[in-house]
Amino acid sequence: MLTNNIIFYSDESSIKISVNKDLFNKMYQYCDKSYPNETGGILIGTYLDKQTAEIVAVIGPSEDSKTWKTRFNRGAKGINKLLKEYWEQGIYYLGEWHFHPNGSPYPSNIDTDTLTSISNNSKYSCPEPILIIISGSHNCYNQKSYLYSSTGQKFEMNC
Ligand SMILES: [Zn+2]
Repeated sequence: MLTNNIIFYSDESSIKISVNKDLFNKMYQYCDKSYPNETGGILIGTYLDKQTAEIVAVIGPSEDSKTWKTRFNRGAKGINKLLKEYWEQGIYYLGEWHFHPNGSPYPSNIDTDTLTSISNNSKYSCPEPILIIISGSHNCYNQKSYLYSSTGQKFEMNC
Protein backbone atom coordinates (compact mmCIF):
# COMPACT_ATOMS: atom_id res chain seq x y z
CA MET A 1 0.00 0.00 0.00
CA LEU A 2 2.78 2.39 0.94
CA THR A 3 4.18 2.39 -2.61
CA ASN A 4 1.02 4.11 -3.76
CA ASN A 5 1.66 6.89 -1.26
CA ILE A 6 3.37 10.20 -1.86
CA ILE A 7 5.60 11.22 1.05
CA PHE A 8 5.97 14.95 1.69
CA TYR A 9 8.88 16.17 3.79
CA SER A 10 10.61 19.40 4.63
CA ASP A 11 14.28 20.04 5.35
CA GLU A 12 13.22 22.47 8.08
CA SER A 13 10.78 20.18 9.92
CA SER A 14 11.07 16.58 11.05
CA ILE A 15 7.41 15.87 10.17
CA LYS A 16 6.63 13.73 7.12
CA ILE A 17 3.19 13.49 5.55
CA SER A 18 2.07 10.40 3.68
CA VAL A 19 -0.81 10.79 1.22
CA ASN A 20 -2.28 8.00 -0.89
CA LYS A 21 -2.56 8.92 -4.58
CA ASP A 22 -6.25 7.94 -4.52
CA LEU A 23 -6.87 10.79 -2.08
CA PHE A 24 -5.45 13.25 -4.60
CA ASN A 25 -7.80 11.80 -7.20
CA LYS A 26 -10.65 12.41 -4.80
CA MET A 27 -9.59 16.05 -4.32
CA TYR A 28 -9.30 16.43 -8.13
CA GLN A 29 -12.88 15.17 -8.47
CA TYR A 30 -14.10 17.85 -6.07
CA CYS A 31 -12.08 20.41 -8.07
CA ASP A 32 -13.60 19.20 -11.39
CA LYS A 33 -17.05 19.60 -9.89
CA SER A 34 -16.44 23.06 -8.49
CA TYR A 35 -14.42 24.57 -11.38
CA PRO A 36 -14.13 27.52 -12.11
CA ASN A 37 -14.81 28.18 -8.43
CA GLU A 38 -12.62 27.25 -5.50
CA THR A 39 -13.51 24.35 -3.24
CA GLY A 40 -11.93 22.58 -0.30
CA GLY A 41 -12.39 20.72 2.92
CA ILE A 42 -10.48 18.97 5.64
CA LEU A 43 -7.80 16.31 5.94
CA ILE A 44 -8.02 13.63 8.56
CA GLY A 45 -5.58 10.94 9.47
CA THR A 46 -3.37 9.29 11.95
CA TYR A 47 0.24 9.23 13.11
CA LEU A 48 2.28 6.24 11.91
CA ASP A 49 5.06 7.25 14.28
CA LYS A 50 6.15 10.44 16.06
CA GLN A 51 7.20 12.08 12.81
CA THR A 52 4.96 10.63 10.14
CA ALA A 53 1.35 11.64 9.64
CA GLU A 54 -0.74 9.64 7.20
CA ILE A 55 -3.79 11.24 5.68
CA VAL A 56 -6.48 8.57 5.52
CA ALA A 57 -9.45 10.57 4.24
CA VAL A 58 -10.29 13.79 2.47
CA ILE A 59 -13.56 15.50 3.38
CA GLY A 60 -15.18 17.71 0.76
CA PRO A 61 -16.93 21.03 1.30
CA SER A 62 -19.75 21.02 3.84
CA GLU A 63 -23.05 22.29 2.47
CA ASP A 64 -22.66 25.66 4.22
CA SER A 65 -19.31 26.35 2.49
CA LYS A 66 -19.19 29.41 0.24
CA THR A 67 -17.23 29.49 -2.94
CA TRP A 68 -16.07 32.07 -5.49
CA LYS A 69 -13.47 32.11 -8.27
CA THR A 70 -10.75 33.36 -5.96
CA ARG A 71 -12.14 32.68 -2.52
CA PHE A 72 -13.40 29.80 -0.44
CA ASN A 73 -15.01 29.93 2.99
CA ARG A 74 -15.14 26.45 4.41
CA GLY A 75 -18.32 25.89 6.36
CA ALA A 76 -18.54 23.83 9.50
CA LYS A 77 -21.89 22.07 9.19
CA GLY A 78 -21.63 18.45 10.31
CA ILE A 79 -17.86 18.67 10.75
CA ASN A 80 -17.79 18.37 14.55
CA LYS A 81 -19.97 15.28 14.48
CA LEU A 82 -17.82 13.72 11.78
CA LEU A 83 -14.59 14.51 13.62
CA LYS A 84 -15.98 13.02 16.80
CA GLU A 85 -16.82 9.78 14.97
CA TYR A 86 -13.32 9.60 13.50
CA TRP A 87 -11.73 10.55 16.84
CA GLU A 88 -13.32 7.46 18.42
CA GLN A 89 -11.52 5.38 15.79
CA GLY A 90 -8.17 7.04 16.49
CA ILE A 91 -8.32 9.22 13.39
CA TYR A 92 -7.83 12.95 13.82
CA TYR A 93 -8.14 16.31 12.17
CA LEU A 94 -4.81 17.01 10.43
CA GLY A 95 -5.49 20.10 8.36
CA GLU A 96 -7.14 21.70 5.37
CA TRP A 97 -7.08 21.38 1.62
CA HIS A 98 -8.37 23.68 -1.07
CA PHE A 99 -8.35 24.51 -4.73
CA HIS A 100 -6.96 27.57 -6.52
CA PRO A 101 -8.56 27.26 -9.99
CA ASN A 102 -6.11 28.37 -12.71
CA GLY A 103 -3.97 29.82 -9.94
CA SER A 104 -0.76 28.88 -8.23
CA PRO A 105 -0.40 26.31 -5.44
CA TYR A 106 0.90 28.93 -3.02
CA PRO A 107 -1.03 30.00 0.06
CA SER A 108 -2.59 33.46 0.16
CA ASN A 109 -2.28 35.65 3.24
CA ILE A 110 -5.81 34.58 4.17
CA ASP A 111 -4.75 30.91 3.90
CA THR A 112 -1.78 31.51 6.19
CA ASP A 113 -3.94 33.41 8.71
CA THR A 114 -6.53 30.60 8.67
CA LEU A 115 -3.96 27.88 9.28
CA THR A 116 -2.19 29.88 12.00
CA SER A 117 -5.47 30.41 13.85
CA ILE A 118 -6.32 26.69 13.55
CA SER A 119 -2.90 25.90 14.99
CA ASN A 120 -3.72 28.10 17.99
CA ASN A 121 -7.30 26.89 18.40
CA SER A 122 -7.52 24.21 21.10
CA LYS A 123 -10.78 22.88 19.61
CA TYR A 124 -8.80 21.41 16.71
CA SER A 125 -6.05 19.86 18.90
CA CYS A 126 -3.75 20.28 15.92
CA PRO A 127 -0.75 22.52 16.69
CA GLU A 128 0.89 21.81 13.31
CA PRO A 129 -1.89 21.71 10.71
CA ILE A 130 -1.22 20.68 7.12
CA LEU A 131 -2.44 22.68 4.14
CA ILE A 132 -2.67 21.07 0.70
CA ILE A 133 -3.34 23.44 -2.19
CA ILE A 134 -4.42 22.08 -5.57
CA SER A 135 -3.98 24.46 -8.48
CA GLY A 136 -4.63 24.36 -12.21
CA SER A 137 -7.64 22.96 -13.99
CA HIS A 138 -9.12 19.72 -15.28
CA ASN A 139 -6.52 17.11 -16.35
CA CYS A 140 -3.68 19.41 -15.34
CA TYR A 141 -3.62 19.75 -11.59
CA ASN A 142 -0.62 20.63 -9.51
CA GLN A 143 -0.33 20.56 -5.75
CA LYS A 144 1.83 21.67 -2.89
CA SER A 145 1.76 20.85 0.80
CA TYR A 146 2.61 23.07 3.74
CA LEU A 147 2.96 22.62 7.45
CA TYR A 148 2.16 25.51 9.83
CA SER A 149 3.37 26.19 13.33
CA SER A 150 1.51 28.09 16.03
CA THR A 151 3.76 31.11 15.46
CA GLY A 152 2.68 31.34 11.83
CA GLN A 153 5.82 29.72 10.49
CA LYS A 154 5.18 27.94 7.22
CA PHE A 155 7.18 24.97 5.96
CA GLU A 156 6.87 24.10 2.32
CA MET A 157 6.93 20.33 1.85
CA ASN A 158 8.67 18.52 -1.02
CA CYS A 159 7.97 15.06 -2.32
ZN1 LIG B 1 -6.14 29.78 -0.93
